[in-house]
Amino acid sequence: MYTYKKSGNTYILSLDNHVSLVEALTAFCREHDILSGSVRGLGAVSSATFRYLNPAAKAYVDRTFDEQMELTCIEGNISRKDGQVYLHIHVTASRSDYSCIGGHLLDCRINGACELFVEDLGVAVGRRLDPATGLNLYDL
Ligand code: FE
Repeated sequence: MYTYKKSGNTYILSLDNHVSLVEALTAFCREHDILSGSVRGLGAVSSATFRYLNPAAKAYVDRTFDEQMELTCIEGNISRKDGQVYLHIHVTASRSDYSCIGGHLLDCRINGACELFVEDLGVAVGRRLDPATGLNLYDL
């Protein structure tokens, strides 16, 4: 699912072709006991699903784009919710006409490469559901 090398508290991570980014990164965090961290990187995908929150309705609208795109920016964080790895990732994706779309990433399918830096912050950070916003916020 991935290969990696560690330098200090940072992992240099390459996801295998055709994997789900969320599945592969979740497995990596679980297998390396990462309780909190930051993620940044780039890659290419054949499909990506974004999740848009309508704050008034506290409802999500998901939309999938089935096309080859470059992930020009992957920016996210790692925490835990109820003991399980919890990823919060935003991406910007560049289309074949060089325009960009982006948002909160639900998941995407790697098609080409995905190169990440994962910084292990070495401290437990949890999340809890905030009824006011309907979001799983940091529980610090
Ligand atoms: Fe988000």
